[in-house]
Amino acid sequence: MKTIKRTIAEVARDLEGAANILILSHENPDGDAIGSSLGMAMGLREFGKNVVAANATVVPERISWLVGAGEIVTELPSTRGFDTILLLDCAERERTGFDLSGIPEERFISIDHHPNTAGVGRKILIDTQAAATGELVLEILLEMSANIETAIATALYVAIHTDTGGFNYSNTTRMTHMSASILLDRGVDPAEVHRHLFGNERRERVALLGEVLSTLELELGGRVATCVVTKKMLEKTGASPEDSDDFVSYPRSIRGVEVAVLLKEQGDGKYRVSLRANTDVDLSLVAKKLGGGGHKKAAGATISGSMKEATATLLDALTEAMERAAS
Ligand code: 5GP
Ligand code: MN
Repeated sequence: MKTIKRTIAEVARDLEGAANILILSHENPDGDAIGSSLGMAMGLREFGKNVVAANATVVPERISWLVGAGEIVTELPSTRGFDTILLLDCAERERTGFDLSGIPEERFISIDHHPNTAGVGRKILIDTQAAATGELVLEILLEMSANIETAIATALYVAIHTDTGGFNYSNTTRMTHMSASILLDRGVDPAEVHRHLFGNERRERVALLGEVLSTLELELGGRVATCVVTKKMLEKTGASPEDSDDFVSYPRSIRGVEVAVLLKEQGDGKYRVSLRANTDVDLSLVAKKLGGGGHKKAAGATISGSMKEATATLLDALTEAMERAAS
């Protein structure tokens, strides 16, 4: 499915006319959310625009080294002074985790690559073919003839690197590598980025991985693999909740597994669920049914109940989705 409601050029022209821009992304941000926000913020500032970037969650440590990351505010500034509220890597007000109700639709622009999302704003660019929102931001900045300095290029490279699992997931396209090529031309050092992202782990995180892997269960005849992160494990290891963000890749890597699940205990009877698919099952629909969302092969949601209930709810939804995919 490819949904482009507006072209890159239309969004670029619109942004050229904007003066005061507030950039927001989804809460619990990943490298694409933050990388896109920073790349766009720095790019727009080159044109003398007043740009503020905000996110409801603090920037994860893994990407906090990006230039400008420290300037992303976690409180929503008064929106009155902004002619444009730019949503990146999400296209719905609620996903930001901020209360944006009552702000006229016309003030928004949204740029995203997630399927099954409505979009808000005077311009809505949703390209589900794009591997990362960072790819779309790069296209827009090129269309605006922005001077893409190394700091901007690095932010966008991190965005693309994150959402493609280092150019490995099935969303990786020729376009993804072309984008990377342009970014390397602008001074990105891939080895340096990799060292920041994966060669700089805290020992608490690796200790947590040990705990989490010991919870591995194979369900539905080995088609589904689950792992759990409990509050207790975080206490025991001294790790923080976001330390487990990509642990779902371990159950995913098991031979024969079609869907991998990571359940993270949030406290107050809630679990954050990360879902990853190796086959054609549509996880964006599964997650949506559970009140979340995401992509076909990578989605998430928050579910309530005991661990047992949460797992049962999830396995029911997955069974149905896998049956649908097979038929
Ligand atoms: P993760 O498992 O890394 O948290 O999320 C995987 C994908 O699903 C990401 O693209 C993320 O944006 C999306 N996602 C995760 N949780 C939610 C949610 O609660 N709502 C929506 N709409 N998308 C989510
Ligand atoms: Mn993304």
